[in-house]
Amino acid sequence: MESISVSGEVGGAGGAYSYNALKRLDKIWSSICSAQTVQQEPQQVVSNFPGVLSHSALAEKAVDKFDVVVCGGTLGIFIATALSAKGLKVSIVERNILKGREQEWNISRKELMELVEAGILDENDIEEATAVSFNPNRCGFENKGEIWVEDILNLGVSPVKLIEIVKNRFISLGGVIFEGCSVSGISVYDDAAVLQLAEENVLSSRLIIDAMGNFSPVVKQIRGGRKPDGVCLVVGSCARGFKDNSTSDVIYSSSSVKKVGNAEVQYFWEAFPAGSGPIDRTTYMFTYVNPQPDSPKLEELLEDYWDLMPKYQGVSIDDLEILRVIYGIFPTYRDR
Ligand SMILES: Cc1cc2nc3c(=O)[nH]c(=O)nc-3n(C[C@H](O)[C@H](O)[C@H](O)COP(=O)(O)OP(=O)(O)OC[C@H]3O[C@@H](n4cnc5c(N)ncnc54)[C@H](O)[C@@H]3O)c2cc1C
Repeated sequence: MESISVSGEVGGAGGAYSYNALKRLDKIWSSICSAQTVQQEPQQVVSNFPGVLSHSALAEKAVDKFDVVVCGGTLGIFIATALSAKGLKVSIVERNILKGREQEWNISRKELMELVEAGILDENDIEEATAVSFNPNRCGFENKGEIWVEDILNLGVSPVKLIEIVKNRFISLGGVIFEGCSVSGISVYDDAAVLQLAEENVLSSRLIIDAMGNFSPVVKQIRGGRKPDGVCLVVGSCARGFKDNSTSDVIYSSSSVKKVGNAEVQYFWEAFPAGSGPIDRTTYMFTYVNPQPDSPKLEELLEDYWDLMPKYQGVSIDDLEILRVIYGIFPTYRDR
């Protein structure tokens, strides 16, 4: 894995491909697993202050005023653009450079058309950002047969292109992007919410939207740092060398529950043709687990993935060129 080129890593889920980033995520995952009920006392990110902003200590500072500030730009750029198109003054605060990941997003055309209806994209943008489309799409479970469907998760969209298109539109509508700025404190007054980015950089807004993803500090505060009830783990790769590459798997389970270390896991797969070439294919292996000290690490799942994926796809690992390795964790809570 260390020998695979990892240029173009970005913020946002599934945007890091290196072995070091995998080890960092496994460390976070281990700390979730070893926590009792509270993972970590959360930082107080949002604080309430009585009174109006003009009577506060921040009143002296030069304040940029917005109708809406969107925190987190990966999907946040879409809501920010929709609100800008309605004539609101909107800004985005993103801790990294706002850029889509190299690895395609798989999505259905119907879902993208909702962005057209919201005035964020036009149909030409969809054509421009679509790297590949494929049909039919398989759902299947071990010994239970297969169901083939059409037009479900049947597009591979380039996040790099899609976000670039929307970013340009947002800026042309008057939107402002603060990149390289991490949200660490939001002060809520009677008439405005305030985000202090740096000593002299203060944004005030009528509404602040949290689009900081699974690891949002605002969500951590709301949940009191509570350990997730379950976690979906995913590992996978985009690789070159699949001769049979015209259809996709939306969900496919080819094996029963198995033991990994002391934990029991049920693996299920997704597989999609990739836009980078006719024999390039993305395969993901997922499982849901309870976060416990003996839960499998991502690196262990990856070992299983290299063993199981060739059989699942009917290929030999020696015939594949691995373009990138992909991984992620999705915390889940019973009470949403
Ligand atoms: C391996 C993998 C594959 C996936 N594949 C697909 C797919 O094919 N199709 C699909 O629809 N979904 C897919 N997903 C789901 C994925 O979660 C979404 O595609 C998308 O990334 C979610 O966007 P988001 O903006 O909600 O969260 P994130 O992608 O997590 O983005 C959060 C954003 O907030 C920023 N941010 C975080 N904290 C701060 C802070 N303190 N201050 C400022 N900014 C901050 C981050 O830099 C980032 O830009 C995949 C996920 C993974 C892990």
